[in-house]
Amino acid sequence: MSNSCLGCSGEAASLQCPSCIKLGISGSVFCSQDCFKANWNIHKILHKPIKDSPTNKTKEPIASGPYNPWPHYGFSGPLRPMYPLSPKRHVPEHIMRPDYADHPNGESACEQDVKGSTHIKVLDDEEIEAMRVVCRLARECLDVAAEAAEVGVTTDEIDRLVHEAAIERECYPSPLNYFNFPKSCCTSVNEVICHGIPDQRPLENGDLLNVDITVYHRGFHGDLNETMFVGEVSPAHRKLVQVTYESLQKAAALIKPGEKYRELGNVINKHVSAHGFSVVRSYCGHGIHRLFHTAPQVPHYAKNKAVGIMKPGHTFTIEPMISEGSWRDITWPDDWTAVTSDGKRSAQFEQTFLVTETGHEVLTRRRNNGGLPYFLDKIV
Ligand SMILES: [Zn+2]
Ligand SMILES: [Zn+2]
Repeated sequence: MSNSCLGCSGEAASLQCPSCIKLGISGSVFCSQDCFKANWNIHKILHKPIKDSPTNKTKEPIASGPYNPWPHYGFSGPLRPMYPLSPKRHVPEHIMRPDYADHPNGESACEQDVKGSTHIKVLDDEEIEAMRVVCRLARECLDVAAEAAEVGVTTDEIDRLVHEAAIERECYPSPLNYFNFPKSCCTSVNEVICHGIPDQRPLENGDLLNVDITVYHRGFHGDLNETMFVGEVSPAHRKLVQVTYESLQKAAALIKPGEKYRELGNVINKHVSAHGFSVVRSYCGHGIHRLFHTAPQVPHYAKNKAVGIMKPGHTFTIEPMISEGSWRDITWPDDWTAVTSDGKRSAQFEQTFLVTETGHEVLTRRRNNGGLPYFLDKIV
């Protein structure tokens, strides 16, 4: 076995690529972190579907149907990815695109310009009106997804419906190419906490499905998600979803000028732990307007150190991710899908909020059925 660096081939190398270790690919060594980083874009192709490699083809003939791209990976729970992913969807030229849409790494220069800053933008009346519009359109796209979420429907099909709903409304689907995310929305099933990639897996009876939608319309983003029931869901999993929804409602009730952003996590954590569930710590709510993710950072756990005080004209999300068992998360080799470390289930709800003079407005609220979430449609 050679131990010369894969990046510059000459140097002696001992740093192994962590994704390759997980996938059981040997010989991926680099001489330094810098060399690893410099070669990442090319190297990462190696992590993509193992069955696509010629050596693997000779061992295991590919079934024509969907397949697990990482058959040797130690999954934490029962869910498996089902590849191939469908081709990247097209957004017509006349729709305004965010700056990362055509960047090779999907980076947003505007976001990076203010990275690390805790300054929270106060939107003027015109910007607030633009947020009202984009958030209503985002909600309509989520309604389309919710109506389609049935046993036997693939998450890729939901992605297609969301993509088309966005385009019909003159919106760019914000996740598409954001840091190279391959699809137009996130679909997170069962033990997936967030950032699940829509694929060929058909929804099964008893699944929990979270669909997270963000769309970009005339320069502004609107972001929301809901966890839905697929078919008959067990009482324990219904409870998880109910408590997660309640935790968002309780946090939202605090929103008014003068409130500290760090208080939201205390309220969420208190409610959730009273029911024996745990709060995911790696992913937070965020400021949102002309930028997809920006200040303030809104952690959902207790005793967090979030910076900032609410002022009229702030727009941000709260999006608690609540797990049945451990709060710890791990990421699949696709570098996106965040799952629970113990394979137990996780649920999430998200809305985009505006702080007003007297309280708040839920910009992404549901406009029918009394504004209640979809999972409650199926109870009664
Ligand atoms: Zn979202
Ligand atoms: Zn969000």
